[in-house]
Amino acid sequence: MQNLRPTSLKEFIGQKRVVEELSIYIKAVKQRRDAFPHTLFIGAPGLGKTTLSRIIAFELRRNIKQTSGPVLDKPGIIASLLTSLRDGDILFIDEVHRIPKVCQEILYTAMEDFALDIVIGKGSASKTIRLKLPKFTLIGATNKPNLCLPPLLDRFQLVFKLDFYDEAELAEIIERAGKELGLNLDRQASLLLAKAGKGIPRQALNLLRRLDNYLNGTNQGLKELITADTVREFLRLLDIDEWGLSPEDRRYLLTLYYHFNGGPAGLESLALASQISPSELETIFEPPLIRLGLVSRTRRGRVLTELGKRYILEQGLALPNRQLHVPF
Ligand code: ADP
Repeated sequence: MQNLRPTSLKEFIGQKRVVEELSIYIKAVKQRRDAFPHTLFIGAPGLGKTTLSRIIAFELRRNIKQTSGPVLDKPGIIASLLTSLRDGDILFIDEVHRIPKVCQEILYTAMEDFALDIVIGKGSASKTIRLKLPKFTLIGATNKPNLCLPPLLDRFQLVFKLDFYDEAELAEIIERAGKELGLNLDRQASLLLAKAGKGIPRQALNLLRRLDNYLNGTNQGLKELITADTVREFLRLLDIDEWGLSPEDRRYLLTLYYHFNGGPAGLESLALASQISPSELETIFEPPLIRLGLVSRTRRGRVLTELGKRYILEQGLALPNRQLHVPF
């Protein structure tokens, strides 16, 4: 399955300000033949953090090693990773906030000094050896920067926050990826898919792949122009409504409405009641619903907004005499 990932800044759609700034730094680093500055990308899953990191490496013709926070749970693992790098290499760490604190400490020292302090032996006979490291670049990705140690955050010279994409940008991403799959979508068709992508390229591209399978399954000629009617039919099959909301999204909203009387509800209990894992609920389902103005996060928990309540009523989801605690 193609991963439909753009490989150059020129092909990257959206995040205009980030792309503009990055292209300036890339140009400067190319001229100076230096290491790229340590960079942090902040944003919800699927917005393009990994893609941008790979593009930086591609544009600079540098090696990139990819790993993720939870894997780096022992000082020895970090040490062997760092010593395997060469000058100018890029180390990409996804979910950088999930690195345990002791390992974050090793990392931020290495980022600043390009050296590792290794303790050999135990007790009074122990001594510290300073190991020189190559001049590498760390690119971190996270959706929870507040869980990183402040000194680690301070070591990132560039910090970019990625926004959700608007529908026109997502439609363009869909059309471009569609061409790679041999799918020819008209504008209305890609806009409908874009809406269901809820601002996130990964979700939009997943839907596009499913549309591809659906069209193969229904034997519809791939050369034909795919119209809005075809996409509408496809979305109906997936039970995605005109707001772009899926059955899981609706389950979340209905749980908040019935089970918690509109909220506030805590993350754990809401996740349990709506049968979605807390981490998925928080990182995948909730951000688009908040962005659509259907839910808001308050200090006391999640709350259904007036618009959220209206959505439930207007979609005919509020059934008369519906009991609380009914499994959906
Ligand atoms: P993240 O690292 O933020 O979770 P990824 O970089 O893995 O997100 O992107 C998820 C998917 O969306 C990938 O298939 C990627 O190619 C695609 N994608 C993300 N941003 C864009 C974009 N701006 N243009 C085209 N495709 C994109």
